[in-house]
Amino acid sequence: MNSEEIKSRVKEINESIKSLQDELTKIKSECSHDNYHVGFYSWRVGVVDVVKICDYCSENIGLPSKKEVDKFLEEEKKWK
Ligand SMILES: [Zn+2]
Repeated sequence: MNSEEIKSRVKEINESIKSLQDELTKIKSECSHDNYHVGFYSWRVGVVDVVKICDYCSENIGLPSKKEVDKFLEEEKKWK
């Protein structure tokens, strides 16, 4: 690829990413989040929380109860 091709392809890819992110946001906003599991969620590099994650759209839908966190951490231990 020459520099013009790179420039044009990068622009195309960035537009696709934006369009897919918009679709993802729309799908997540329409999801009823009827089922969830407790799992690790990373807000940013180095920060990991235990949260409720929707089974369908993978959205972080809030903090689990203490009981749910304890159960999740107990399950995690079994795999180590
Ligand atoms: Zn959902």
